[in-house]
Amino acid sequence: MKALVYKEYAPNDNFGDILTVEEIPNPEPQPNEVLIQVKASALNYNDVWGMRGNPIPVELPHTSGSDAAGDVLAVGSEVTSIKVGDRVAVHANFACRVCEACTSGREYDCSKRMVWGFQTTPGSHAEQVCLPEVNVVKIPDSVSYEQAAAAAMNLLTAWHMLVGRAQIKPGQLVLIMGGRSGVGHLGIQIAKLYNCTVIATASPENAGLCKELGADYVVNHRDEGWVKEVRGICKEIAKQTGGAPGIDVSFDHIGETHFNAQLSLLKFGGTLVSCGATTGYDAKIDLRQIFFKGTNVLGSTQGTKAELEQGLYWMGQGKIKSAIGAEYTFDQAAEAYEQFLSGKGLFGKIIIKP
Ligand SMILES: [Zn+2]
Repeated sequence: MKALVYKEYAPNDNFGDILTVEEIPNPEPQPNEVLIQVKASALNYNDVWGMRGNPIPVELPHTSGSDAAGDVLAVGSEVTSIKVGDRVAVHANFACRVCEACTSGREYDCSKRMVWGFQTTPGSHAEQVCLPEVNVVKIPDSVSYEQAAAAAMNLLTAWHMLVGRAQIKPGQLVLIMGGRSGVGHLGIQIAKLYNCTVIATASPENAGLCKELGADYVVNHRDEGWVKEVRGICKEIAKQTGGAPGIDVSFDHIGETHFNAQLSLLKFGGTLVSCGATTGYDAKIDLRQIFFKGTNVLGSTQGTKAELEQGLYWMGQGKIKSAIGAEYTFDQAAEAYEQFLSGKGLFGKIIIKP
């Protein structure tokens, strides 16, 4: 079968020099595994980390890809919940399933956790993949392969942040940082599904797209006055509701440059939930924003298989959709990653197919 392969790292992001389309052996399912014909997969930042060999020197040769959707071609003898012909997507969180965290329902906290297609190979950038039954979820009929592949990692992350960790409630005011991003555009829709009021941050050219997804207000967080603007919106909302002004839940993946400002915008007892730090890790924090205000600062990584199923259910109900920005073939992978890194003209996920 065809797969997108690299045999050395590209620390200078010269991915075109290392990526090749090759024939690799067809995978054979183990007794507990499901064989999937991949119809669509997507690009994620961990593919880039893999190719850079940093922060983790992944196994070489390597086939990346942590999002996949397709049809089940075969199942191992011990598989009971999935059958040949099912339309499925992948829960890319490989956990041990026996440790204290796993058996407490926190598979995302498993110390042996690995991300499929990043810390394991081959991942989804191949024509066929084998996965343990426990990592395979069915896709609702109304959700396309492309939608499911584009959603899986980001939907899981965004759902776990807002529903699993921050436990959003109807009527809350939610700040979605980077509303244009992979997790951000889903965060907007999840918060709206929960009847929250949403302030999203985005550049002016993406403001309309965020509003289309349901954002009630859009602010440009690259604008110096953005904190003041959000504070103004909070005051306006508080006047209508009679409550205290401020953000209930801030959804962050930006990190360093905007972390303390988010803390300053939270209400007393508010929550900041973070799944990443794209601008850097070294945030300067005024700790009074945490202890004096009783702030909850929550970390979040991936999520449970059940959470992915919940998110996909709501996609099937038409309440959440993935933004798909571009589609490429394996042969065009270098171009795909170039657009992925530059973000030029891109709103949503990049799909890649054989
Ligand atoms: Zn475990």
